[in-house]
Amino acid sequence: LLLAYEPAKRLARLQVQLESGLIGVRMLYELLDRKPTLVEAPDATELICNQGLVRFDNVRFGYGRGPVINDLTLDFPAGKVSALVGPSGAGKSTILALIERFYDPKRGRVLIDGQDIKDVTFVSLRQDIALVTQDTFLFQGSVRDNILTGRPGATEQEVIDAAIAANAHEFIVEMQGGYDANVGEGGGRLSGGQRQRVAIARAMLRDAKVLLLDEATSALDSMSESKVQEALQRLMKGRTTIVIAHRLSTVRDADVIHVLDKGRLVQSGSHAQLLAEGGLYSHLHALQFREAADNVADEAAAQEG
Ligand code: ADP
Ligand code: MG
Repeated sequence: LLLAYEPAKRLARLQVQLESGLIGVRMLYELLDRKPTLVEAPDATELICNQGLVRFDNVRFGYGRGPVINDLTLDFPAGKVSALVGPSGAGKSTILALIERFYDPKRGRVLIDGQDIKDVTFVSLRQDIALVTQDTFLFQGSVRDNILTGRPGATEQEVIDAAIAANAHEFIVEMQGGYDANVGEGGGRLSGGQRQRVAIARAMLRDAKVLLLDEATSALDSMSESKVQEALQRLMKGRTTIVIAHRLSTVRDADVIHVLDKGRLVQSGSHAQLLAEGGLYSHLHALQFREAADNVADEAAAQEG
């Protein structure tokens, strides 16, 4: 009985693994392609993205009744870091979703290098956009395959180079199986910081002109944090970065900060300009960043003293 039972149990386990693997692939398509919701224009052309200038031209959008993005006209300059800040529900994530063409505006246009993203193929749009969020999707499978989704068909050396640049290579080779090691369901065998670095490696491999970042709200341990930050700095270089910023260091270092409230742009400028201006930014700054700002002040004081 025991002998008969064992293989059945193993089979059941395999079945579960297979099923979650399949779910993984489907979720992957939903998250990477984001295609099923919208259709491609029959005469869609290839996006030609040389600079990576992202432009919102009088964009209005809502999920149902009531607008979530209100007549937004805004440029995200090529090769620069633009930070989005604002209270929860202000529309920051929606702006990123519109750039990925997860949704179409009700009015107005989203343009990349002058081309309305409604008029280009999904494949070409996706090639020029990389997304890194706090919960970037990892599927049950090898580290290599997870990185390869950034650019299927990349060579082994390209995967390794991307992992090195993402500060991921070191921990990958220490795992049993190295690049063949299974990351587990949803990347569960990796720590939060490791998952983020695999996501960064994936984005490195994609080598897209436009980088969308949704910063983690939950803190990593400081070692992991600094490795992630360092990898992100490398990733952002030479790309148009649009970051939903939760860290004081990100907003301070951004080329420009846009403050959103209820789907409207209420302030734009550098950290110093916005602080001097008062208004929503200084209020948010006091709420969101006070602790981090105090730490910076403490460190500065400690260095002086
Ligand atoms: P933020 O990222 O600034 O917190 P979001 O862009 O996520 O803001 O959300 C803006 C508004 O849109 C909120 O009121 C939110 O509840 C709503 N919203 C976001 N996503 C959806 C969705 N998929 N379906 C319906 N409403 C949504
Ligand atoms: Mg959000």
